[in-house]
Amino acid sequence: MSTQTNKKSPNAEAEARRAILRRASAIGLCASCVHLVAARSRRSVFVRCALAGTDSRFVRYPTLPVRECVGFAPCVP
Ligand code: SF4
Repeated sequence: MSTQTNKKSPNAEAEARRAILRRASAIGLCASCVHLVAARSRRSVFVRCALAGTDSRFVRYPTLPVRECVGFAPCVP
């Protein structure tokens, strides 16, 4: 899976992505979007949209689940 990453360790990023995939139906399109920045705390998973930093049409933390999005670009496995 190719997604954008946060600044945590590769293992933390991988675990955050696995946690997001486990909740894919509740997260919606972001779960499989290349613009997802995945982060995880002990009790929560955070879905951040990287496009929000450069395009005002997007919010940093989208309301989930995202069912339609003009920025969606699927990850290439
Ligand atoms: S571009 Fe859309 S689908 Fe992709 S991470 Fe941002 S809000 Fe989610």
